[in-house]
Amino acid sequence: MFKEDIYFCPYCGIKTNNSICCEICSNELKKFVNKNIGSTEFCDAFTAPFVYEDIVRDAVHNFKFEKRRNYCESFGYFMASCDLFYSDMIISVPSFNNKKKYNTSDLLAKYMSKLLNIRYQRHAVSKIRDTKFQHECDFSKRLSNLNDCFSASPKKLNNLNILICDDIITSGSTIDEVAKACKKSGARNVYAVAFAVSNGAFAECYSGGKNWDVKF
Ligand SMILES: [Zn+2]
Repeated sequence: MFKEDIYFCPYCGIKTNNSICCEICSNELKKFVNKNIGSTEFCDAFTAPFVYEDIVRDAVHNFKFEKRRNYCESFGYFMASCDLFYSDMIISVPSFNNKKKYNTSDLLAKYMSKLLNIRYQRHAVSKIRDTKFQHECDFSKRLSNLNDCFSASPKKLNNLNILICDDIITSGSTIDEVAKACKKSGARNVYAVAFAVSNGAFAECYSGGKNWDVKF
Protein backbone atom coordinates (compact mmCIF):
# COMPACT_ATOMS: atom_id res chain seq x y z
CA MET A 1 0.00 0.00 0.00
CA PHE A 2 1.27 3.42 -0.93
CA LYS A 3 0.56 6.19 1.44
CA GLU A 4 -1.17 9.07 -0.26
CA ASP A 5 0.85 12.26 -0.14
CA ILE A 6 -0.69 14.96 1.98
CA TYR A 7 -0.50 18.61 0.95
CA PHE A 8 -2.04 21.76 2.29
CA CYS A 9 -4.00 24.07 0.02
CA PRO A 10 -2.00 27.33 -0.13
CA TYR A 11 -5.22 29.35 -0.45
CA CYS A 12 -7.16 28.07 2.58
CA GLY A 13 -4.77 25.78 4.45
CA ILE A 14 -6.91 22.61 4.46
CA LYS A 15 -5.42 19.20 3.77
CA THR A 16 -5.62 18.24 0.13
CA ASN A 17 -4.19 15.64 -2.24
CA ASN A 18 -2.15 17.97 -4.45
CA SER A 19 0.09 21.00 -4.05
CA ILE A 20 -1.93 23.23 -6.41
CA CYS A 21 -5.18 23.85 -4.52
CA CYS A 22 -8.18 22.15 -2.93
CA GLU A 23 -11.46 21.62 -4.71
CA ILE A 24 -13.25 24.47 -2.95
CA CYS A 25 -10.55 26.99 -3.83
CA SER A 26 -10.33 25.63 -7.35
CA ASN A 27 -14.06 26.40 -7.76
CA GLU A 28 -13.49 29.89 -6.37
CA LEU A 29 -10.55 30.52 -8.72
CA LYS A 30 -12.63 29.41 -11.69
CA LYS A 31 -14.83 32.49 -11.20
CA PHE A 32 -11.88 34.76 -11.93
CA VAL A 33 -10.30 33.22 -15.00
CA ASN A 34 -8.79 35.76 -17.42
CA LYS A 35 -8.83 35.13 -21.15
CA ASN A 36 -7.48 38.43 -22.41
CA ILE A 37 -4.09 39.08 -23.86
CA GLY A 38 -2.82 42.64 -23.78
CA SER A 39 0.22 44.48 -25.02
CA THR A 40 2.08 47.64 -24.07
CA GLU A 41 4.38 49.85 -26.12
CA PHE A 42 7.38 47.55 -25.57
CA CYS A 43 5.81 44.31 -24.34
CA ASP A 44 4.47 42.40 -27.34
CA ALA A 45 1.98 40.35 -25.36
CA PHE A 46 1.10 39.82 -21.74
CA THR A 47 -1.43 37.68 -19.98
CA ALA A 48 -2.31 35.98 -16.70
CA PRO A 49 -4.58 33.08 -15.79
CA PHE A 50 -6.65 35.17 -13.35
CA VAL A 51 -8.02 38.66 -12.81
CA TYR A 52 -6.90 40.43 -9.68
CA GLU A 53 -10.02 40.07 -7.54
CA ASP A 54 -11.24 38.33 -4.41
CA ILE A 55 -9.39 35.03 -3.69
CA VAL A 56 -6.79 35.92 -6.36
CA ARG A 57 -6.08 39.29 -4.77
CA ASP A 58 -5.77 37.73 -1.30
CA ALA A 59 -3.39 35.09 -2.62
CA VAL A 60 -1.13 37.66 -4.31
CA HIS A 61 -1.14 39.71 -1.13
CA ASN A 62 -0.17 36.72 1.00
CA PHE A 63 2.55 35.66 -1.42
CA LYS A 64 4.00 39.15 -1.84
CA PHE A 65 3.65 40.83 1.52
CA GLU A 66 3.18 37.98 4.00
CA LYS A 67 6.04 36.16 2.27
CA ARG A 68 4.12 32.91 2.04
CA ARG A 69 6.19 31.18 -0.58
CA ASN A 70 4.01 28.04 -0.55
CA TYR A 71 1.89 29.71 -3.25
CA CYS A 72 4.73 29.51 -5.75
CA GLU A 73 3.97 26.05 -7.12
CA SER A 74 0.29 26.81 -7.56
CA PHE A 75 0.89 30.18 -9.20
CA GLY A 76 3.47 28.65 -11.53
CA TYR A 77 1.19 25.78 -12.45
CA PHE A 78 -1.62 28.12 -13.53
CA MET A 79 0.75 30.54 -15.26
CA ALA A 80 2.24 27.69 -17.28
CA SER A 81 -1.23 26.67 -18.43
CA CYS A 82 -1.65 29.96 -20.33
CA ASP A 83 -1.12 29.87 -24.05
CA LEU A 84 2.33 31.43 -24.03
CA PHE A 85 4.37 32.57 -27.00
CA TYR A 86 7.61 30.82 -27.80
CA SER A 87 10.40 32.18 -25.59
CA ASP A 88 14.14 31.46 -25.42
CA MET A 89 14.73 32.87 -21.98
CA ILE A 90 12.88 33.70 -18.78
CA ILE A 91 13.68 36.78 -16.74
CA SER A 92 12.27 38.33 -13.57
CA VAL A 93 11.66 41.90 -12.47
CA PRO A 94 14.75 42.81 -10.45
CA SER A 95 14.88 44.92 -7.31
CA PHE A 96 17.30 47.84 -6.98
CA ASN A 97 20.82 46.39 -6.52
CA ASN A 98 19.08 43.04 -6.04
CA LYS A 99 18.67 44.07 -2.42
CA LYS A 100 15.28 42.45 -2.00
CA LYS A 101 15.97 39.02 -0.54
CA TYR A 102 12.42 37.83 -1.00
CA ASN A 103 11.56 38.61 -4.62
CA THR A 104 8.29 37.00 -5.75
CA SER A 105 9.10 37.60 -9.42
CA ASP A 106 12.41 35.78 -8.99
CA LEU A 107 10.72 32.84 -7.22
CA LEU A 108 8.14 32.49 -9.98
CA ALA A 109 10.69 32.88 -12.78
CA LYS A 110 12.82 30.13 -11.26
CA TYR A 111 9.86 27.80 -10.93
CA MET A 112 8.49 28.59 -14.41
CA SER A 113 11.92 27.88 -15.83
CA LYS A 114 11.68 24.34 -14.46
CA LEU A 115 8.09 23.83 -15.60
CA LEU A 116 8.60 25.14 -19.14
CA ASN A 117 12.16 23.94 -19.53
CA ILE A 118 13.36 27.40 -20.57
CA ARG A 119 16.52 28.83 -19.06
CA TYR A 120 16.23 31.56 -16.46
CA GLN A 121 18.76 34.36 -16.70
CA ARG A 122 18.55 36.08 -13.34
CA HIS A 123 20.98 38.91 -14.04
CA ALA A 124 20.04 39.79 -17.60
CA VAL A 125 18.20 42.88 -16.37
CA SER A 126 19.09 45.05 -13.40
CA LYS A 127 17.38 47.90 -11.65
CA ILE A 128 19.69 50.89 -11.77
CA ARG A 129 17.61 53.40 -9.86
CA ASP A 130 15.55 53.03 -6.70
CA THR A 131 11.86 53.83 -7.07
CA LYS A 132 8.75 54.09 -4.94
CA PHE A 133 6.61 50.98 -4.70
CA GLN A 134 4.24 50.94 -7.65
CA HIS A 135 1.25 50.31 -5.40
CA GLU A 136 2.08 53.53 -3.53
CA CYS A 137 1.75 55.59 -6.72
CA ASP A 138 -1.52 56.47 -8.37
CA PHE A 139 -2.08 55.18 -11.89
CA SER A 140 -0.80 58.33 -13.66
CA LYS A 141 2.46 58.41 -11.66
CA ARG A 142 3.26 54.75 -12.23
CA LEU A 143 4.88 55.33 -15.57
CA SER A 144 7.12 58.26 -14.60
CA ASN A 145 8.06 56.51 -11.35
CA LEU A 146 9.75 53.74 -13.32
CA ASN A 147 11.02 55.63 -16.35
CA ASP A 148 14.38 54.16 -17.44
CA CYS A 149 14.98 52.47 -14.09
CA PHE A 150 15.95 49.14 -15.67
CA SER A 151 18.99 48.28 -17.73
CA ALA A 152 19.62 45.06 -19.65
CA SER A 153 22.74 43.31 -20.81
CA PRO A 154 22.95 43.19 -24.65
CA LYS A 155 25.25 40.16 -24.51
CA LYS A 156 22.61 38.13 -22.73
CA LEU A 157 19.52 39.22 -24.64
CA ASN A 158 20.54 39.87 -28.22
CA ASN A 159 18.06 38.47 -30.73
CA LEU A 160 16.20 36.39 -28.15
CA ASN A 161 12.52 36.07 -27.30
CA ILE A 162 12.10 36.92 -23.66
CA LEU A 163 9.41 35.96 -21.14
CA ILE A 164 9.05 38.13 -18.03
CA CYS A 165 7.47 36.35 -15.04
CA ASP A 166 5.83 38.28 -12.24
CA ASP A 167 3.03 37.80 -9.71
CA ILE A 168 0.80 40.70 -10.69
CA ILE A 169 0.39 43.01 -13.66
CA THR A 170 -1.49 46.08 -12.44
CA SER A 171 -1.13 48.94 -14.91
CA GLY A 172 1.39 47.21 -17.16
CA SER A 173 4.01 49.91 -16.58
CA THR A 174 6.53 47.67 -14.81
CA ILE A 175 6.60 45.03 -17.54
CA ASP A 176 6.65 47.81 -20.14
CA GLU A 177 9.78 49.32 -18.60
CA VAL A 178 11.51 45.95 -18.29
CA ALA A 179 10.55 45.17 -21.90
CA LYS A 180 11.88 48.56 -23.00
CA ALA A 181 15.28 47.79 -21.45
CA CYS A 182 15.28 44.36 -23.12
CA LYS A 183 14.43 45.79 -26.55
CA LYS A 184 17.12 48.48 -26.22
CA SER A 185 19.54 45.61 -25.66
CA GLY A 186 18.47 43.77 -28.78
CA ALA A 187 15.74 41.40 -27.59
CA ARG A 188 13.51 40.33 -30.47
CA ASN A 189 10.14 39.90 -28.74
CA VAL A 190 9.29 40.42 -25.11
CA TYR A 191 6.31 38.73 -23.47
CA ALA A 192 5.07 38.70 -19.90
CA VAL A 193 3.01 36.36 -17.78
CA ALA A 194 1.80 36.91 -14.24
CA PHE A 195 -0.51 35.03 -11.90
CA ALA A 196 -2.98 37.91 -11.83
CA VAL A 197 -3.81 40.90 -13.97
CA SER A 198 -5.91 43.96 -13.15
CA ASN A 199 -8.63 44.68 -15.64
CA GLY A 200 -7.17 48.18 -15.76
CA ALA A 201 -4.12 46.82 -17.55
CA PHE A 202 -6.28 46.03 -20.56
CA ALA A 203 -8.13 49.34 -20.60
CA GLU A 204 -5.82 51.14 -22.97
CA CYS A 205 -3.73 48.40 -24.41
CA TYR A 206 -6.14 45.59 -25.02
CA SER A 207 -5.23 43.82 -28.22
CA GLY A 208 -8.02 41.33 -28.65
CA GLY A 209 -8.93 38.29 -26.60
CA LYS A 210 -7.91 34.80 -27.38
CA ASN A 211 -9.73 31.79 -26.14
CA TRP A 212 -7.73 29.45 -24.03
CA ASP A 213 -8.53 27.52 -20.93
CA VAL A 214 -6.76 27.65 -17.67
CA LYS A 215 -5.97 24.10 -16.69
CA PHE A 216 -7.41 23.05 -13.34
ZN1 LIG B 1 -8.33 25.63 -0.45
